[in-house]
Amino acid sequence: MSSEDRTRQVSTRKPNLSNVKVAGHDVLRTVNRRILLNILSERQPISRADIAKLSGLNKATVSAITSALLKDHFIVEEGAGRTTPIGGKPPTPLRLNELRFGILGLDIRADETILALSDFHNRLVARKSYETGNDPRAFLTEIGGEIRRLRAEHTQFIEVAGIGVSLPGLVDNRAGKFISSVVLPWRDVPVVEWLRESTRLPVIIDNSARCAALAEIWHSKSHYAHVRNLLYVSVSSGLACGIIIDGSLYRGWTNAAGQFGHIPIDFNGPECRCGQRGCWDLYASDNATVARYRNLPGATAKRGVTMRRIVELVESGDPAATEAVRETARYLGIGIAGLVNGLDPEVVAIGGEIAKAWGVVEPVIAQEMGRNMLASAGRKIELRRSTFDVRPSLKGALTLVLSELLSVPHLG
Ligand SMILES: [Zn+2]
Repeated sequence: MSSEDRTRQVSTRKPNLSNVKVAGHDVLRTVNRRILLNILSERQPISRADIAKLSGLNKATVSAITSALLKDHFIVEEGAGRTTPIGGKPPTPLRLNELRFGILGLDIRADETILALSDFHNRLVARKSYETGNDPRAFLTEIGGEIRRLRAEHTQFIEVAGIGVSLPGLVDNRAGKFISSVVLPWRDVPVVEWLRESTRLPVIIDNSARCAALAEIWHSKSHYAHVRNLLYVSVSSGLACGIIIDGSLYRGWTNAAGQFGHIPIDFNGPECRCGQRGCWDLYASDNATVARYRNLPGATAKRGVTMRRIVELVESGDPAATEAVRETARYLGIGIAGLVNGLDPEVVAIGGEIAKAWGVVEPVIAQEMGRNMLASAGRKIELRRSTFDVRPSLKGALTLVLSELLSVPHLG
């Protein structure tokens, strides 16, 4: 199939004439630069000839783009100046200049907030932890001061690209505001404005499930590296999802996409905090697991028991904890099957404490999905736990900024 035929088959994207972007010289230049930077990020060190082979660009174009990238310090030549025994120049491999950008990530959770600094090659350089404050203005002012301090301690970067912020709950990413959450007592907080005021840096925010989904597609390795369509299910005190469609995070018209936790699965079920009855969240979140465990006659640690503790009990073979977690996994599987029927992702990734009991959880979810998914012969959805055991949303906060540097702009 020629590439034109392939385009004819897959592309249905209607151009956006209210904000049209045509393929001018500068847009094409950005697209090609970004594609090359992505190839470098994945395959480095890599020669110009290999970049040409992988990208399909001709050698002269690759040479022109890499020269510009060298000049702007985005990339460096590895082992420059060597010669072969017969005096010729060997092909000089190229790699990203990790000091081109420092990237700041802020992962705000109800109890603890993590501030991290990574380099352009996605390696963590610094990480600090704070108790999250109830007064957002005071807390973000304190964090602004910490960011200035961190920058003063790490002057090795040519530029600090910005701050990515992950928040629990509803986030209006376009307005730069945190709206509300059941776990964090903040309301209508202009996070972007306040952090920008105190740091003079660009700030991007999003909710934690969407951040985690973004981290999953940008940083997964091996055979997951090229996943284009992914459903990320974040299981914590509530349930939220991140949806990746053709490599892009889907945010929705009012920025609220992914709140599948409030799909009712039982109209006669208990009342949910959202006002409906029998939401999926009430059966498959950590709160549900904890309540279920407490009500079991065999439960040994009823008072103040946390999800983390229940998962530890599962690991030690505790029957009541195992039963509670299996029941939650059953409801996860039922809900995920419905979402897979509707979204048809390549991969479903599950994050949160419950994913640490993967050996117990995975077979139950897979069984329920098998039972509830529309039959399509021989199709098996890849089900996996989040790539990042610790704080996927922190990785995602950093990815908000990194993806702005490396994503390919839409035309049309
Ligand atoms: Zn609800």
